[in-house]
Amino acid sequence: MLEELEQYAKEYKIPIMQKDGIDFLTAFIEEHNIKNVLEIGTAIGYSAIKMALVSKDVKVTTIERDETRYNEALKNVSKFALDNQINLIFGDALDINITGEYDLIFIDAAKAQSIKFFNKYTPLLRSKGYVITDNLSFHGLVNSDQEMSRNLRQLVRKISEYIDFLKNNNDYKTTFYDIGDGISVSEKVD
Ligand code: SAM
Repeated sequence: MLEELEQYAKEYKIPIMQKDGIDFLTAFIEEHNIKNVLEIGTAIGYSAIKMALVSKDVKVTTIERDETRYNEALKNVSKFALDNQINLIFGDALDINITGEYDLIFIDAAKAQSIKFFNKYTPLLRSKGYVITDNLSFHGLVNSDQEMSRNLRQLVRKISEYIDFLKNNNDYKTTFYDIGDGISVSEKVD
């Protein structure tokens, strides 16, 4: 069934996590005994489903602003009978407000907005919790001197700014991994 989701994503050009990245994320959840995850950027629910399948104790709250993708995610979560583990929220993560306490925040939404997502949602992180961010290499374009359009250059600059923001943030210890499309793990220091 997961292959069907991967196929759907390919067909409709929906960016879901790459295999190496999703394997890293699910192994991380298992190793660190993560129970409550907040995901920004559901798409069709692929990564939320993979995370929930790690263990029945894993609960995922996930936010998506695109209605078609959100509806697709609803269908997929039901197909996997994971409705009691995955809470799907339709809305723009920068506009809505949620509550709760999370062991892990997974940021995988609009890449230019990562600092905003980080600042808005890390108050919901438990002490010694983690923030994982995907696509920090952005298909190899970050730190490359490849020619690109103005919009793409701006996006790549925003991702570089986010990387600097993480490096300079003394409240978190961040490790960068050259896995999938580039992943960071930021551990809350206190
Ligand atoms: N995590 C998903 C997976 O691996 O299966 C992929 C998520 S995809 C890379 C990013 C998603 O974030 C898109 O579906 C996009 O519509 C959504 N998104 C972007 N900005 C958002 C925002 N401000 N609030 C909510 N969703 C957002």
